[in-house]
Amino acid sequence: MLYEKSVPPPVFKIVMDLMNLDVQTRAAGYYDHFPDRSMSVVVKVIKEPVEKKILILDKDVKAGEVVYTEKPVVAVLDHDLQETGTYCTHCLRSVDLENVVIPQVDRFNSVYCSTDCETRSKHQSQNLLFGRESVLPPALLPMEGIPGVAENRNAAQAAFADYLKSNVKSLPLLVARFAARQVDAEINKMIPPKTRTDDALANDENSDYDHMERLRYVDTEVTQEEKTLLSNVLAAALPGLERLLGDDRHDILKGKMRYNSIGVSFNGGRDGKPVSTDRPEDIERTRTPHGTSRQIGTAFYYVSSYLGHSCDPNVRPSFDETGTSELSLIALRDLKKGDELTMAYVDVAQLPDESVTEARRRRRQELARGWKFACECSKCVVDALVQTENSGVESTGNKSDDDLGVPLEKAKLEEAVARVEAQLTQAAVSESPVSPASEPTPAPTNVDDEHASERAQEPTA
Ligand SMILES: [Zn+2]
Ligand SMILES: [Zn+2]
Repeated sequence: MLYEKSVPPPVFKIVMDLMNLDVQTRAAGYYDHFPDRSMSVVVKVIKEPVEKKILILDKDVKAGEVVYTEKPVVAVLDHDLQETGTYCTHCLRSVDLENVVIPQVDRFNSVYCSTDCETRSKHQSQNLLFGRESVLPPALLPMEGIPGVAENRNAAQAAFADYLKSNVKSLPLLVARFAARQVDAEINKMIPPKTRTDDALANDENSDYDHMERLRYVDTEVTQEEKTLLSNVLAAALPGLERLLGDDRHDILKGKMRYNSIGVSFNGGRDGKPVSTDRPEDIERTRTPHGTSRQIGTAFYYVSSYLGHSCDPNVRPSFDETGTSELSLIALRDLKKGDELTMAYVDVAQLPDESVTEARRRRRQELARGWKFACECSKCVVDALVQTENSGVESTGNKSDDDLGVPLEKAKLEEAVARVEAQLTQAAVSESPVSPASEPTPAPTNVDDEHASERAQEPTA
């Protein structure tokens, strides 16, 4: 095989393992082990009216209680804060300027709250993307070395760093960090015993690819420039790695980051974030009830990605408990085992100068722009009735009457995953398809009745 001959054997193995698309063999048991039982939530497949996966509570909780905590897979500080060096580049903690750790090699004004964060960051992505050390540990380096790496690496990294600084967006770096993290995880597997440098999933048997391939995404175009710059960085670190983001992998990965990422903010959000000059449909949006314009950074989580949206949510992500990008999911009211968990992807509060109708329209427009769906949650349904009462027009019960200003589309699942999961759910349709709990999943009355309208919140075709 030509490709195998052209790259060092360890790189060949890394890339092949990461690109293994044999979903069939892994799909059956995936949700038996994910999410981890200690998080007290399970993923459930809903077939009607739109097939989707939702997150179900597996215990009773009281209002204000923490349902679970989750560390991010990857996180990125907002561009302006990365420049000022006031937050840890790795865990997003506010740093004490007197005790800050400043790395020797860095292209980003990175600072760290601790040497531990610096080390993790370096292993997971900073060294591959912006550092000088060999990505392969000495034990795996071919005898003859890897020709051309040093000089190519410097130029490729500088070009990518310049692009990130002028582009001021979070998603390109989030994608790059994720790709680098996958490589780090594969390398860790090849050189046991080594302390895993990956803090999100210390005891996780699934690979990043297993988690990622199941998540939904919205179509996102990656410019050729962005693809080439990152591809050059990967290839310069280890020739062959650029294949990780080949074909349409880069677009899909970015689409997943865009659809699933959560905004990190402390104490209700900050003021003074520079206002984007992009067109509204081009502004990056993260899931956050405080608004992306008040966040300090963007982070991506495997379990919390399954949280659906509601304009009347029953949980909220909070970062004040840890002061870092580790997410605590807080119950907004008393909840029962079997309840579907929903958060607000956007600021759903009605502003003082807004009518019910205006608030409904604003939040639905945000949702349409960011996630490409028309919200049909229970609050949107009720607020639509207020609208028609006030206008004297008879309600048709049809909520697609607003002009949301952007074309809507259904969030996608990668083809191979969709195909295999459809077969699996077909085969197991009379059993509890996903819940691995030994006792039967409680009759989901609250899902089927109270939250019935929320099931339609997935993007409508
Ligand atoms: Zn830190
Ligand atoms: Zn809604």
